[in-house]
Amino acid sequence: MSEPFFWWTEEQKEIAQKVCQFVEDHLEEAESYFWNKKFPWPLVKKVAAQGYFGAGIPKEYGGLELGATGSCIVAEGLGRLYAVGHVFTVSMLAGLEQMLKFASEEQKQKWLPKCAKGEQLGALCITEPFAGSDAANVMTTAVKEGDEWIINGSKQFITNTNLDNSSIVIITAKTQRESDGKMVISTIVVPKDASGFKVGQKYEKMGMRAGATHELFFDDCRVPRDFLLGDINKGFAQHLTVLQTGRITVGAIATGIAQACFDEAIAFTRKSLQGNQSLFTSQRIPFNLADIAMEIELSRTMYLKAAWLKDKGEKHTLEAHFAKLFGSETATKITSEVLKILSPYGYLDKYPISRYFRQAKLFEIIEGTSEMQRLVIARELL
Ligand SMILES: Cc1cc2nc3c(=O)[nH]c(=O)nc-3n(C[C@H](O)[C@H](O)[C@H](O)COP(=O)(O)OP(=O)(O)OC[C@H]3O[C@@H](n4cnc5c(N)ncnc54)[C@H](O)[C@@H]3O)c2cc1C
Repeated sequence: MSEPFFWWTEEQKEIAQKVCQFVEDHLEEAESYFWNKKFPWPLVKKVAAQGYFGAGIPKEYGGLELGATGSCIVAEGLGRLYAVGHVFTVSMLAGLEQMLKFASEEQKQKWLPKCAKGEQLGALCITEPFAGSDAANVMTTAVKEGDEWIINGSKQFITNTNLDNSSIVIITAKTQRESDGKMVISTIVVPKDASGFKVGQKYEKMGMRAGATHELFFDDCRVPRDFLLGDINKGFAQHLTVLQTGRITVGAIATGIAQACFDEAIAFTRKSLQGNQSLFTSQRIPFNLADIAMEIELSRTMYLKAAWLKDKGEKHTLEAHFAKLFGSETATKITSEVLKILSPYGYLDKYPISRYFRQAKLFEIIEGTSEMQRLVIARELL
């Protein structure tokens, strides 16, 4: 994390410093989970003990109430902790954002305090075999029967879902609109112990290796009727609103990875310069470093601008997409550049560069691929 920005509140400056120290203290532990591919529960619990899962949750529900800016500051820091940053992002600003915006007061009281303490993690399930970029093409259905929803279908590539019965699984499903009988998308919370709900295969991944990403199956899965989130007719619009916040956070976490990688490049080059001043005469590496520093600053400013607008309650569609697209593509580019600067050492497991490179690539895929970001930006502009 860079120096605090001038518009940050004292609370935001303090949280940035605390998260930075927390991350420094736990880097080695996070790396061990990367290698052994185990879900980092002990470390997730330490993150929870700091209250960070409640970063975006209002104090009345037990959160830290740091707003979008504060949550992004936390996300950028935790981005260095490999899968832990991803767990945080998905849980806090994908699943929970739905609750904050659309849940009834009763639902908020039921779920938010546990989420704020990290006792419950959030999962957001949109992707299916034929729905992802085309998020409206959902095949999973939810049919009302008495006091319950009967859900049938499947989801794939869903993060934060193999946990014990403590995660909140929020799904999109097609439901019948009463006014005209049309099938429209709604959002429903599925408790992990609901009958007919099954977690399928775990995906082995290039990065986020310790994270839990699974297939999900709903076979006459029964969920109480009042587990519907928000308006039955507006599920899709709800999702689009919520994903905007997720995109800002992805910009933040990607910036964290780019910064961590850059720090390695600076340390390595300083050391190399001691023995070989010709590194500076050739200009390639110094020029590279200058460009990287500038691009990170731009990524950070983009997500912070989007977060600032969100905190002010202003429209931030374009800014959120800029933050996600630029942040994720910059992280991929920078991690690849740093690998080159440190070559051949950057390719070795001893250095974290290849791990950061693997993590960064994911952010070009989740919460909408780069192509989908460009499409939305172009639509907004036109
Ligand atoms: C590790 C991991 C974790 C994930 N976690 C979650 C999660 O928690 N919840 C969840 O719901 N999903 C999750 N996903 C899924 C991810 O969000 C989707 O895979 C992604 O949005 C792409 O959608 P898709 O699978 O439908 O691919 P497709 O849409 O089939 O995309 C394939 C390619 O076609 C391109 N493409 C598609 N449509 C267009 C178009 N109109 N114009 C131009 N190009 C196009 C895409 O950009 C992409 O390059 C995760 C994926 C991974 C890898």
